[in-house]
Amino acid sequence: MNPPHIAIIGAGPSGLSAAHALKKKGANVTVFEKNAFAGGQCRSYEVDGKWYDMGAIICIEHNEAYQRFTQQWPQQTQAFFTPRKGARYTRDGKMPKRGKRWHLRILLQLINYSIRYPRQYQQPGFSLRRKDHRPIKQFTRRRQSAEFSDHTDMIMTAYGYGYPDEVSAAYYLKYCEPRILWGMGRRKGIYTMSNGYQNFWHQVAEDFDIRYSSAISQIERQSDGVFIQHGNSKERFDGLVIACALQKTQSFLDTTETENALFSKIQTYDYRTYLCRVRGNYDRPFYHQLDTFSKENAGHVMMWGAQQGNTGVMVAYVQADGLSDEIIHQRLQESLQLMEGGELVEILQQHHWDYFPHVKQAELDDGFYPKLNNLQGQNRTLMVGEIFNFSTVWKCVEWSEHLIEKEYGNWKI
Ligand SMILES: Cc1cc2nc3c(=O)[nH]c(=O)nc-3n(C[C@H](O)[C@H](O)[C@H](O)COP(=O)(O)OP(=O)(O)OC[C@H]3O[C@@H](n4cnc5c(N)ncnc54)[C@H](O)[C@@H]3O)c2cc1C
Repeated sequence: MNPPHIAIIGAGPSGLSAAHALKKKGANVTVFEKNAFAGGQCRSYEVDGKWYDMGAIICIEHNEAYQRFTQQWPQQTQAFFTPRKGARYTRDGKMPKRGKRWHLRILLQLINYSIRYPRQYQQPGFSLRRKDHRPIKQFTRRRQSAEFSDHTDMIMTAYGYGYPDEVSAAYYLKYCEPRILWGMGRRKGIYTMSNGYQNFWHQVAEDFDIRYSSAISQIERQSDGVFIQHGNSKERFDGLVIACALQKTQSFLDTTETENALFSKIQTYDYRTYLCRVRGNYDRPFYHQLDTFSKENAGHVMMWGAQQGNTGVMVAYVQADGLSDEIIHQRLQESLQLMEGGELVEILQQHHWDYFPHVKQAELDDGFYPKLNNLQGQNRTLMVGEIFNFSTVWKCVEWSEHLIEKEYGNWKI
């Protein structure tokens, strides 16, 4: 029997890791990518001979999938935390002092959090407890000190994962595994790719048949195969893996009523990154602007990343909530002025991301995840991507690997 031929839509980390897992199972794989390049939200730019990431940047060393992939496709990496730690500023430009007591309180909270952490969140997918459907703010208020909550808001909201009074605690638990928090606290085991995250995925992509710049106009899933129309040609496949945003598939996929109903529940945030040339002495790995992690302060810079050290090129991270780029450009300038008295010279690139697909508490209460996962394998289709296991690169890879392992033998294709 011929090996099945599977079409994958999207050459981001989810699509490429699904391709890798399917190839290991013996399937033939063709990946369709709408861009002229691979990597999805891993987007890197070279400025003055150094690479800067405007999308994904951090890799966590302990992640097994990360270790396996970087063994197969070796990369030069560098510690995210340089010998200097990050700096924190308030909106009036002050650097808050944090003494021994503050650190001790955080440490005790972290120990408490680690002991009580529900281990099921370390498994692929969302196996939820109902109490975790509530927004993070309600969830943490009873359990944790204000200091600890401030600390975690910093790595949730500033990193694009929404506002603590809106986003369900389940997402927070999925992301803030104790080992990640300990790693951040100890400034250990957290890396960036020296030559840019995107170049890593380009290397992975070389092993596959990828149709770049392919504008898919229609996908029909029928009893005798999956038919993909792109340009003037129509090709037949045995199975389909959707590895792009589910909520945007309606324009080309023959979605069923159930699929439509579920996909339309998925929400995202307007998160933006700005690659800037700056003047000033910015020699820390990153700069947080505290008191900007709330809806009222949308459009203010939450964080600046200085991935390559004090090179005069930095990336600003903004929860924009629909504000114009002009307003945000002014705030980039204000923010640099407040922090170290620097100035904005030029904006080199800017990206608008529909970031962090998630659903609201009401949808979780209504069984969104079991319903979505019941669709796996139906209509010759498997689905991978951020919504299934949280928006980080290696959680996406873990999900693709897990799903292919679980479904491949039973998949009716
Ligand atoms: C600013 C920012 C910072 C981040 N920081 C981190 C970080 O530090 N660490 C971390 O682990 N993660 C980080 N992430 C998250 C991480 O990048 C994503 O979770 C991950 O890239 C998701 O992978 P994916 O393959 O599911 O989706 P994507 O990366 O979005 O890839 C989807 C691919 O599908 C393609 N596609 C879409 N529609 C079609 C179509 N119709 N036809 C063909 N192709 C299509 C897209 O062009 C894209 O290439 C960050 C993301 C952003 C935006």
